[in-house]
Amino acid sequence: MPQRRVRPKLPEVSESQCQSRLAWNQGLTGQPRPPAERPAFEPCPAVFCGAPVVGRRAPAAGMVQVRGAADGAAAHWYCPDRCAAIARARADIRAIPLRPGGER
Ligand SMILES: [Zn+2]
Repeated sequence: MPQRRVRPKLPEVSESQCQSRLAWNQGLTGQPRPPAERPAFEPCPAVFCGAPVVGRRAPAAGMVQVRGAADGAAAHWYCPDRCAAIARARADIRAIPLRPGGER
């Protein structure tokens, strides 16, 4: 399979390059605007989402059980799609053993 060649990106350092960029950018300079004031993700409004598993019945219809990070850690109930995926990913990340220096 042929590999796609990628042209290297060269830094724009000359005066004419800067002027042409300013002309294209309509003179806008400086820092970009700050990111929107929003949390990384919205908390789930479901009442039983994240409830620990007690017994075999789900606390609400359609909820799925997600295992804990470590062996013997408690499993919890989550909404089927987004919340369960986040919980599984979080458990997977927590299950990564720490390196001696403390980094994963
Ligand atoms: Zn949820």
